[in-house]
Amino acid sequence: MSAINRDPKIVVIGAGFAGLTAASHLTKHGYLNVTILEAMDRPGGRVHTTKPFGENVIDLGANWIHGQDGNPIFIMAKEHGLLAENDSCSTMCLPGAVTPKDYFFHQNGKLFDSDEVEHVCQVFDNLMSKAFNEELGPKYKETSLGDYLDEEFSASELISIEGAKMVFEWCKRVECTDEACSSLYEFSVSQLRLYTALEGGFFNSLGPGGYQAILDILLKSLPLGVLVCSTPVKFIKWNLNQGTSPPGEMYPVKVICDNDEELEADHAIVTVPLGYLQEKATEMFYPPLPDWKIRAINRLGFGTVSKIFLEFEKTFWPVDCSGIQLVWEQGHEDKDMYMSMLDGDSWKDTWYKKICGFDTVARHPNVLCGWITGKEAEYMEILDDNIVGETCTRLLRLFTNWDVSNPVRVVRSLWKENPYVRGSYTYIPVGVDAQKEQEALAEPLPSVSCNSTNKPLQVLFAGEATHVNYYTTTHGAYLSGEREAQRIINYYKKSPVSSVGK
Ligand SMILES: Cc1cc2nc3c(=O)[nH]c(=O)nc-3n(C[C@H](O)[C@H](O)[C@H](O)COP(=O)(O)OP(=O)(O)OC[C@H]3O[C@@H](n4cnc5c(N)ncnc54)[C@H](O)[C@@H]3O)c2cc1C
Repeated sequence: MSAINRDPKIVVIGAGFAGLTAASHLTKHGYLNVTILEAMDRPGGRVHTTKPFGENVIDLGANWIHGQDGNPIFIMAKEHGLLAENDSCSTMCLPGAVTPKDYFFHQNGKLFDSDEVEHVCQVFDNLMSKAFNEELGPKYKETSLGDYLDEEFSASELISIEGAKMVFEWCKRVECTDEACSSLYEFSVSQLRLYTALEGGFFNSLGPGGYQAILDILLKSLPLGVLVCSTPVKFIKWNLNQGTSPPGEMYPVKVICDNDEELEADHAIVTVPLGYLQEKATEMFYPPLPDWKIRAINRLGFGTVSKIFLEFEKTFWPVDCSGIQLVWEQGHEDKDMYMSMLDGDSWKDTWYKKICGFDTVARHPNVLCGWITGKEAEYMEILDDNIVGETCTRLLRLFTNWDVSNPVRVVRSLWKENPYVRGSYTYIPVGVDAQKEQEALAEPLPSVSCNSTNKPLQVLFAGEATHVNYYTTTHGAYLSGEREAQRIINYYKKSPVSSVGK
């Protein structure tokens, strides 16, 4: 390894949690020659807090902090007083003792008995906990989560309870949304155990500032001028000047932007989403990324979860209602339906069957938020606002028989359509060794351990998808950014630079 006689120059690509944390960590440790290049006109990436309905914010991307113990995002939120005041009623705060609850409707307008629904959901949750926490054995090694759940359902007492199957299928649809996959029949059950759920409440909500309030803490920690928005990177050249100049004198990396601006660097930390890499990685680097890196990018899954916000003139749901859940006779999460969807496009006629339901929204008494996932979500994203609004209204009328007026505004997330994201978050497909591929994705180029005489750590990779235990989450993104910044810091500790850290 060779030292350099100047401040190392570091370019971070992407200003989501991973990129902002990497830059913040580096600058705190005295590495001041850092630039973040962000393609969009705002930092935050898949955290996007906005105010389309007046005073109060909504989050189009991440909205919960998953787990508390050891979660840096939770710790920051707590320290700065950013958590929702009463988390147990985070969707709506009601006067008196009314406890908000979900209303489960059959497509024929009949309301399900809440004890029956709770019973089915409990069995479902137990099966999921088992999959997360226990070795399921060889039987389920190469199996999908959908097949595991179906098999366990058939062996349970639920099989003989009328209506239980339909509610169980609804649970599968919600799980599909949590996991951002198109179908649970494509999602690996054996790899679930790698994901680590942090202790403490799983769904911690933020207060009136939304997720932006946490981003703001990171943004304030950055020296002026570090963050450059509206500057997409189109190309990264690495291994430059190796062997042709005195070691450490020249920059081995050149980052070229869409506007043709070029930045030389000692290190580039790439934090772009996996979805973006799946589309661009083969054309974005020279020399091209090695085969094992491309394989990791393509083997891991990157699915779409979308939110549909509907604003109404006035509420039409009861005061104790926290969500209207839609239970179909046969939804898209059913195995037969899944198989038939593999051929042809007829599923597009019933894309809305993938909507789980509509939840009330904190601090927005007249707004509901619908959740949809998979290729149906991707299809929804290309439809017109009016069509989406009309379809949702039709569903709400069909299921509830309530007096549902037309929404006055429809606001949707468009994560698949976003050219710099191309989906929502990572999932592990059946047959993929998650740890192997995620470690390959995170491996820097060239790595410190490899035999190359070229300068190590020229291109580093961070982002939610690179974290083996906390992928999909904001804290996974945060910790991956910190990991790559620390990797650079450790490298110079062993091979010091005279001016850094003073
Ligand atoms: C709908 C939805 C709901 C979610 N809910 C939760 C939740 O409740 N809790 C939770 O913990 N997580 C949630 N997540 C996941 C969480 O948002 C992400 O895991 C996390 O924000 C990812 O951060 P990141 O830094 O890895 O990537 P990103 O935030 O995607 O940042 C990457 C950045 O790279 C930029 N970029 C891409 N290409 C280029 C280029 N060529 N040049 C320059 N910049 C580029 C992008 O514009 C982006 O800003 C949710 C995500 C979505 C979409």
